[in-house]
Amino acid sequence: MNDDDEKRAEGVGAEALLDLVNTLDERSFTIHGVQHRGGDDLAELSNARVWLRKRGLLGARRTLATDDVVKLIELRRALRTALAVRAGHQEATAFAEVNEVLAGFPLAVQLRHDGTCSLAGTAAGIPAALGELLAQVVVDGGWTRIRMCAAPDCRWVFFDTSRNASGRWCSMRVCGNRDKTRRYRERQASA
Ligand SMILES: [Zn+2]
Repeated sequence: MNDDDEKRAEGVGAEALLDLVNTLDERSFTIHGVQHRGGDDLAELSNARVWLRKRGLLGARRTLATDDVVKLIELRRALRTALAVRAGHQEATAFAEVNEVLAGFPLAVQLRHDGTCSLAGTAAGIPAALGELLAQVVVDGGWTRIRMCAAPDCRWVFFDTSRNASGRWCSMRVCGNRDKTRRYRERQASA
């Protein structure tokens, strides 16, 4: 989405995570008479490979197994569910299922040679790389600012730069305005 009011995510982890959850575009609203057509950027194995390479999560010489793509899509689904709960689209009971998926990306504190420590994936291959991506977002606090649009026919995920991280719309110009118009019409109808 190239909205003029779209904010850039702060931090590499947050940016990659936003990019991952938005590879599934569920937007179906009509704007200026044109219905938005969504899509899934990870529907093909080759697309998933390109996405992982672009994010530095898959080395040039490594091949991608179908299992890896299954894990990637599973993680995306879980994260979208978690964000949907926060946006009010789903019940909080869905968190149990999310946590079950997240358990498939185990992490451990590891010391490096220079004496610093970090969270490293303890699984092999792609799940380890994805786990570290998750850890980055949690550690730098970016997770609380990653939000799903409150419009049920949008569900686009955005980086919330509002002061107390309480933004509701992916874009004030699009979904914020659509909501204002809807509420105005409702008031008119009941008046
Ligand atoms: Zn929206």
